[in-house]
Amino acid sequence: MEKGSLLFKEEKTAFSQPTYDEQVLNYLAEKVGTPYYLTDERTIARNYERLKSAYSVYKGNVIVAYSVKANFNPFILNFLSRVGSHFDVTSVEELYFLLKSGGSPENVIYTSVTETESEYREVMSKGVRRIVVSSIRGMYNAIEAGRLLNVVPEISVRVNPEVQVRAEVRSAMKVSKFGVPLNGSNPESAYKMVKILLDEPGVKFGGFHFHLGSQLEDPNAYLQALEKIKQLILKIKKEREFKISFLDLGGGTPVNYGVKVPTPEEIASTIIGKINELVEVNGDFFTLAVESGRYIVAESTVMVSRIVNTKYYGTKKIIYLDAGYHYLLDIALLQQVYPLEVVGGKESNEEKPIVAGRLCDSMDVFQVGPESKLDGAEPGKLVLIKNVGAYSLVFNMPFHSQVKPAVVYRASDGKYYLARKKQELEDLYEEEGGSLLRDRVRVI
Ligand SMILES: *Cc1c(COP(=O)(O)O)cnc(C)c1O
Repeated sequence: MEKGSLLFKEEKTAFSQPTYDEQVLNYLAEKVGTPYYLTDERTIARNYERLKSAYSVYKGNVIVAYSVKANFNPFILNFLSRVGSHFDVTSVEELYFLLKSGGSPENVIYTSVTETESEYREVMSKGVRRIVVSSIRGMYNAIEAGRLLNVVPEISVRVNPEVQVRAEVRSAMKVSKFGVPLNGSNPESAYKMVKILLDEPGVKFGGFHFHLGSQLEDPNAYLQALEKIKQLILKIKKEREFKISFLDLGGGTPVNYGVKVPTPEEIASTIIGKINELVEVNGDFFTLAVESGRYIVAESTVMVSRIVNTKYYGTKKIIYLDAGYHYLLDIALLQQVYPLEVVGGKESNEEKPIVAGRLCDSMDVFQVGPESKLDGAEPGKLVLIKNVGAYSLVFNMPFHSQVKPAVVYRASDGKYYLARKKQELEDLYEEEGGSLLRDRVRVI
């Protein structure tokens, strides 16, 4: 394969079926090596549109913001920019990726954890105006950055609604690193910060942001959070005139990994009544933002790995893949169940095997859900690990001197492009200190 060239750019007909056939998967395995990621643009388009249209039950302006942290591949950022997505960005580095990939700073919601003044200056100097702050110091840093640059940021406050959340990853527990309490009796609270922002001439007050967690199973958590925000709006309104122009529901729209979860439409219809109550107490519509990483990209990507060995431990069959948690970290972190399928496996009544990754680590074992199809698993066959588009390739690590796999991208026109080159082992060696062994660099 030529370095940097687009795969099959010249081939018009060969492999453009809407579903992956065995021949394509094997061909790609030969071309780019296994394991590799295979991302489908049409699936991203479908999920983005579905999320957006689910919230069209809201009569004000709705924006869907893709959470760059879920997968920052430039092809994905570029595509989502072109379809008009907004972006949830958390670091200067993510902003760099987004702007380089064709994204626009007007479509950024910048929600930082570090919240330093120099960081805010940097993102505002790149054109970002919509800022979400999570602490009083962060708020003053954002105000100061705007003043120094002579620009007017729109600042919203990230609140921790402190609700019970049923989710894979929870962000809104009683004391959390994220956001501030709503309540004014706390030394730092949204109640106090809003009033400071309203009195600050150099900024525009936006509204509120919360993020309950990832893979949210129960939309009632949103209802509780929204009710608390409504009460806060009412409380501030008793003291002074003000309005919010922005309300951000954060992320959490769940993905079906083999267990039924609420759909975007079900979530939107559960909470729209409460959102309309907020419009009423606010006295005006506000821009409603829905953030999502997982829902937009998880289903778009499969990891294609190869079975390298099988053995029987007593009567139990174990299959070994050339993938592992160095590519799919949530296997170890969250015991994530990814649907698995042997490519070209034949039907049989075999008991489901244990699926082991390639690492010398006992946590490197794949959960096998009931929807997994593992019949006919033999060395040499390919196994698809599905729904791995979110929070996987962003965690790729060189544990066991393993290189980053290639990413192949099927564009909406059905053509397959190389979206990330497989890392060369030699490059990994050099980066990890090999070059410094030759060219010694003295530090002190
Ligand atoms: C991670 C994150 C998201 C995205 O969460 P998903 O579960 O991928 O939808 C959205 N907003 C914030 C602030 C986040 O930290």
